[in-house]
Amino acid sequence: MSDPKEDYKGYRDPMRAVMQANGVTVWSQIVARTSRGTFAGLVLPRSETSDADHLVLKLESGYNIGLRADTIESLEKRGYKKAEYKIPEEEFPKDPEKPRVMLFGTGGTIASRLDYRTGAVIPAFSPGELYGSVPELADVCNLDTEKLFGVFSENMGAEQYRVLAARCGEAIEAGYDGIVIGHGTDTMHHTAAALTFMVQDTPIPIVMVGSQRSSDRPSSDAARNLIAAANAAAHGDIAEVMVCMFGPTSDQYNLLHRGPRVRKMHSSYRSTFRTLGDIPLAMIRDGKLSALKTPYRLRDPKRKATVTPVFEERVTIVYYYPNMQPDVIDALVDCGYKGIVIAGTGLGHVNRLVYPALERAREKGVQVYMTLQTLWGFVQMHVYETGREILQLGVVPLANMLPEVAYIKLGWALGRHPDDPEAAKALMQTPIGDDMTEREPFGGYLVFQGGVPEITGFVKKILS
Ligand code: ASP
Repeated sequence: MSDPKEDYKGYRDPMRAVMQANGVTVWSQIVARTSRGTFAGLVLPRSETSDADHLVLKLESGYNIGLRADTIESLEKRGYKKAEYKIPEEEFPKDPEKPRVMLFGTGGTIASRLDYRTGAVIPAFSPGELYGSVPELADVCNLDTEKLFGVFSENMGAEQYRVLAARCGEAIEAGYDGIVIGHGTDTMHHTAAALTFMVQDTPIPIVMVGSQRSSDRPSSDAARNLIAAANAAAHGDIAEVMVCMFGPTSDQYNLLHRGPRVRKMHSSYRSTFRTLGDIPLAMIRDGKLSALKTPYRLRDPKRKATVTPVFEERVTIVYYYPNMQPDVIDALVDCGYKGIVIAGTGLGHVNRLVYPALERAREKGVQVYMTLQTLWGFVQMHVYETGREILQLGVVPLANMLPEVAYIKLGWALGRHPDDPEAAKALMQTPIGDDMTEREPFGGYLVFQGGVPEITGFVKKILS
């Protein structure tokens, strides 16, 4: 029996009246003719606070669109399909022969399903539900799961980094063979950097994974990425902090990227993660890991990890723009910031206007570091007069460290040496996990990043 409250959930007049006049309810499969075109899809419920003018349709592509009441010419009901989106939480089957992997959940799309009340993606899966939706994981390893947080990754921060690093340390102590961390993609590279610094000399792989498209969408990369990450954690011999994400759009393999060299580079492509300033560390195809870059740190259960879950939160990053005024830097110094990372232009430049503010920052003991907006290439402050002048003002160049990585490293370095700024500065300039490298590999800028035809040829050559 139909329940009028459920049938029109979230809809009010005028939209509700249009639905009633056309014999359409929530969960109707319809063809809508509108002044903007014809659309076929499923009518979704809405939240009570949504506007009264739109009908929300989930198209077959997985995208939701809103149709305004006054554009609708007719709605034709073709069927009815009530969606049930709860995925059963299942106990993971154990096999004594298989490696033990700990899966930490932090949230993000990989842990999400669509909330049909609001049409938004919400973090709703527990790690147990993740297994329920990707049973192939049982062929790879024995998985223990723990949901540490349930947040979109913009809400990851110092506190979450500290907890995550400490929990990784505990999982290593407990003898796991590998760690997988489910994470939102937007700031996965920040967390990968944080773990690179906070959990050093890990004896086992620590593999971060996310997905660009939620698992209710046909083109979701969630299961594929998770299975690849579990393989890298359970069977791979690279014991570093890595990000495991979609390779080329042809779906042939996943790539493993080193924690401090990876960055999200596209808002919506599944092959969004790129290793910058280098080539990716390895690829995973059909569950098998092939290294692309050597040397790397080998798995060694006897090695002791050094875990330092500390982070000074009064650090910041300033993206330079032409016409920047000195008061931007002055304000940060006055607010008690202890360290500033600048993402400068070209080889590491800012305008003359901010020089006095940089000088003042130095006098007040605020550390200032230089990185590049170009993302590829090295800070070189001896080439132009500007660079030399900025060096004179005490700004420290950070080679090819990515700006976000420098920000995270600075928080960690000042957290480690709260009373010894010189020690923090020395740590900043010491390469850790390839956060700074000696040179870019030949061709690294042009190829080998997934998704372009050149790679196929390049990879074939390496594998043959
Ligand atoms: N906004 C999401 C997040 O970073 C995106 C994702 O998971 O892909 O949490």
